[in-house]
Amino acid sequence: MKHQKISAHTQAAHLGRDAKASHGFVNLPIYHGSTVLYETYQDFKELQNRRQNLNEVIYGRYGTPLSFALENAVAEMEGAFAAVTTSSGLAAITASLLAFVEQGDHVLVSDSVYQPTRVYCDRVLKRFGTETTYYDPLVGGQIEDLLRPNTKVVFLESPGSQTFEVQDIPAITAVARKHGVNTIIDNTWATPVYLKPFELGVDVSVHAATKYITGHSDAMLGLITAAENCYFKIRDSVRLMGQCAGPDVTYLGLRGLRSMPTRLERHYQSGLTVANWLAQRNEVMEVIHPALPSHPDYAIWKRDFSGASGLFSFIVDTASETEIAALLDNTQLFGMGFSWGGFESLLIPFDPTAYRTATEWKSKGTAIRIHVGLENPDDLIADLENGFSAMKNRH
Ligand SMILES: *Cc1c(COP(=O)(O)O)cnc(C)c1O
Repeated sequence: MKHQKISAHTQAAHLGRDAKASHGFVNLPIYHGSTVLYETYQDFKELQNRRQNLNEVIYGRYGTPLSFALENAVAEMEGAFAAVTTSSGLAAITASLLAFVEQGDHVLVSDSVYQPTRVYCDRVLKRFGTETTYYDPLVGGQIEDLLRPNTKVVFLESPGSQTFEVQDIPAITAVARKHGVNTIIDNTWATPVYLKPFELGVDVSVHAATKYITGHSDAMLGLITAAENCYFKIRDSVRLMGQCAGPDVTYLGLRGLRSMPTRLERHYQSGLTVANWLAQRNEVMEVIHPALPSHPDYAIWKRDFSGASGLFSFIVDTASETEIAALLDNTQLFGMGFSWGGFESLLIPFDPTAYRTATEWKSKGTAIRIHVGLENPDDLIADLENGFSAMKNRH
């Protein structure tokens, strides 16, 4: 198997297991623990030399064999040196940003980022004297013009998880590398299966494992994967802030990972089916899905990604709140709520106008983000059809 590229499906089924250490059981046990006992004084004393190792059992907060199994599996799937778990996706984002900056520094953040990332930069980083400039996600190599001598990080999210601009990752990382600036990507949308950011020159990748990795809308979990030159810095940042993920949630993360590549195939295909159907509807002005050839960044998506998840957006041709309410309240299979990446479908309206600074959100109509879950897409389409009928009746 050595020189053969192992598929994500096979990796997900086999990584992070140790039947010998688990009395033959397929899965590792959940370790509930804080204190770890050292057998001898010598063992305890020598711990100091082992503290920086990977997979070293020291104390509950620093991880258990189960969290190491999850971290190692995700790192290997994504092509990273190593990974560390956090209590949520947002915690993964904040800990990785904080690892690189100090007072007087500057960071470049994509204008299309997950909104709480932006709020963190504007409120917390600012308070500690780090300034943020938001950049047009389509900036590409021209990000060079925005670099300052004190720029420490470029933070990407591609595609943006509401508006789905696809960034030219290799163009951005080439410039950042040239200037000694680290790059972090929020890779939640594509997951380690559909985008390999380290092959494109990224240093750190963050995941809301709450989404596809856990995959069942039943846990909050974050993961950071990193290249070797950044990993220990990141792990220190996580550890020194007291970050850790609970053992039961870690178990759900590893359990979810097993089926993630298979679930994603379905999200991808059903997402395209629903997107193509929406694109034909009179009520829909635009479907914003990176894997549709009509998307302005389709060529970049095709070059860098090997698939698409079930999350995309569309613009409904109305500004009327009562009509949008009719649509949302008359779709039975689509829930309305934050988050995504679970087995179930979701719809949520959004308006990024207020939180854009580098770019302008010009779309007329009402933007709706859709998560296409694991239901049969024909049932979802019938449900959306009902929603559109109700919308028309409200007109
Ligand atoms: C949900 C989400 C996060 C935050 O993850 P939580 O686990 O909810 O904290 C970060 N980035 C993106 C793109 C997300 O969609």
